[in-house]
Formats: sequence, structure tokens, C-alpha cells
Amino acid sequence: MTARSLPLAICAACGAYGYDRQTLNEACGSRKQGSEPCGGHWLKRDRFTDWLSCHTCKGTGYFEAKRCPTCKNSGWVPAR
Ligand SMILES: [Zn+2]
Ligand SMILES: [Zn+2]
Repeated sequence: MTARSLPLAICAACGAYGYDRQTLNEACGSRKQGSEPCGGHWLKRDRFTDWLSCHTCKGTGYFEAKRCPTCKNSGWVPAR
């Protein structure tokens, strides 16, 4: 098992995870198929205690050889 990098933020609107500190002041911008970029703002979750290792994939980001849907392939789920 490899330790995967911890997200820094969660989108308040769509629940996407943010990894880039530079973009946390901007809108989320993630797209689901065919829709407009998400205009949600980021909720900062940049402490280790904000996250738990994903129980579905045991923190690997992969479940049954696919991207883990529980943690969006990150290996982490929000602690609250
Ligand atoms: Zn979003
Ligand atoms: Zn997972």
C-alpha cells in the first residue's frame, strides 16, 4: 500500500477534492459530463485530522481494480 497525498480542501457544492493550494481562492471548476464548471467554493481541510484513510479501498484509491468511488480515487475520506 502506498500512502497517497492528502487533499487540501473539499468543494462545498459538488464534494470534489482539492489538491492545489494556489486554486483554493477560486471556484471549484470541476465538470461532470456535459455540465457547466462547478461554481462551488472550497472548504479548507488541510489538517491531517480532517481526513481518514478510506475504509473501502484501505487508502489505496483503488477498489476491485477500479477507481474507488467512496474516496474518488484519493484514498481519503473527510473525517467530518
Ligand atoms: Zn465543485
Ligand atoms: Zn477509497
